[in-house]
Amino acid sequence: MPLLAELEALPRTGCLPTARRETKLRSLMEKVVIIGSGCAGLTAALYTARANLRPVVLTGRQPGGLLTTTTVVENYPGFPDGIDGYELMVRLQKQAERFGAQVRFGSVEAVDLSRQPFALTVDGEPLAAETIIIATGASHRHLGLESEHKLENKGVTYCATCDGALPPFRNQPLVVVGGGDSACEEALYLTRFGSIVYLVHRRDTLRASKIMAGRALAHAKIKPVWGSVVTEVLGLEQDKVTGVRLKNVKTGTATALDCAGLFIAIGLIPNTHLFKGVIEMDETGYIIPREGTATNVRGVFAAGDCVDKVYRQAVTAAGLGCAAAIEAERYLAAKNE
Ligand SMILES: Cc1cc2nc3c(=O)[nH]c(=O)nc-3n(C[C@H](O)[C@H](O)[C@H](O)COP(=O)(O)OP(=O)(O)OC[C@H]3O[C@@H](n4cnc5c(N)ncnc54)[C@H](O)[C@@H]3O)c2cc1C
Repeated sequence: MPLLAELEALPRTGCLPTARRETKLRSLMEKVVIIGSGCAGLTAALYTARANLRPVVLTGRQPGGLLTTTTVVENYPGFPDGIDGYELMVRLQKQAERFGAQVRFGSVEAVDLSRQPFALTVDGEPLAAETIIIATGASHRHLGLESEHKLENKGVTYCATCDGALPPFRNQPLVVVGGGDSACEEALYLTRFGSIVYLVHRRDTLRASKIMAGRALAHAKIKPVWGSVVTEVLGLEQDKVTGVRLKNVKTGTATALDCAGLFIAIGLIPNTHLFKGVIEMDETGYIIPREGTATNVRGVFAAGDCVDKVYRQAVTAAGLGCAAAIEAERYLAAKNE
C-alpha cells in the first residue's frame, strides 16, 4: 500500500500509532530527497553528495530535464564549442553519482509535508526525507499542432535566448507567437539575428506591459500580425521549418508566411501542482522562496525553473540547485547539532 494511504489509515492520536508511523518512516528515511533531475536537481545532487549526504534524486518522467530535448547548448559556461544537451546532462549525472548521489527513476505522486520526516509516494512506493529539494522545472505551453511536434528542434523552439543565435536562424525571417512580456522579449532578442521578426498574436493588442509592448512595436524589424493564430507549421517534407499557415480569427482567412524559425512564447506551466496549498506559490504556480531557496515549510527548498520565471536558463537553474544544496546541508547540520 502506498505510504500516504497507509499513514492515513493509522489513527492520528495515541502513542502506539504515532510511534508506528515514526518507526515506519525512520526506516525509509533519506537525509535529502531531490525531486527532479534537470540542471537544478542534479547540481543540488552534486553538492549534497559531496557533503556526504547521499542524496536520492527522483528523475520524474524526463530524466535529465528539459535540456535533454535540445541538440546544441552554446551558452553553458565551459564549453567553447557548445555541447549536446543530452550529453551535458549525462555528464552532470555521472559527476553527482561519483560522489554518492543515488539517481532513481520515478515520479513523485504525493507528498505529506505536514510533519517530520516528510513522506513521499514515488510510483506507489513510500519514501521519507529529512529535507526535500523541489526541482521540478516548468513545462512550455505548446500550440498543440502535430506539425509543431514533428518539427520541434528543426526550427520550432520555445526559447529564443537558447536557440536564437543558431546558424539556421541568421538573416532569416522568424515568427514569434504570443502577446505577453516573454513574447516581446523573445521578439526583441531575435531582431539581432533574423532579417525580420513577425509577432503573431491572436488579439489586436499585446498583453505585455506597456513598456515591453512599446519597445517591441517601435522596433523597425518587428512586424505584428494581429488577430491571427498558427494553424500549421510548414516544412514537413524538407524536415525543417519553412513557414507557418495562419488563420485570421475574425475573418477565418488563411494565409501563409515564410520563415525559418517558429518561436513559441505562449507561457510556461511550473510543475508544482503536487505542492499546491502547502508550499507558497504565486497565482501562476511559481514557488515563492522565503529566504534564499527556503520555502515556507522548514526543511523544504526549491530551485530552478519551478521558482524562476525570469531567467529560465540552464546555468541559473544549476546555480539555484547549488544554493538549495548548501542551504539544505546547513539546515541539517543545525537540526542535528
Ligand atoms: C528546447 C530547449 C532548449 C533549451 N536550450 C537552452 C540552452 O541552450 N541554454 C540554456 O541555458 N537553457 C536552455 N533551455 C532552458 C533549460 O533547459 C532550462 O532552463 C533548465 O532545464 C531548467 O532546469 P530545471 O532543473 O529547473 O528544470 P528541468 O530541466 O525542466 O527539469 C525538471 C525535472 O523535474 C522532473 N519532475 C517533474 N515533475 C516531477 C515529479 N512529480 N517527480 C519527480 N520528478 C519530476 C522532470 O522529470 C525533470 O527531470 C532550453 C529549453 C528548451 C525547452
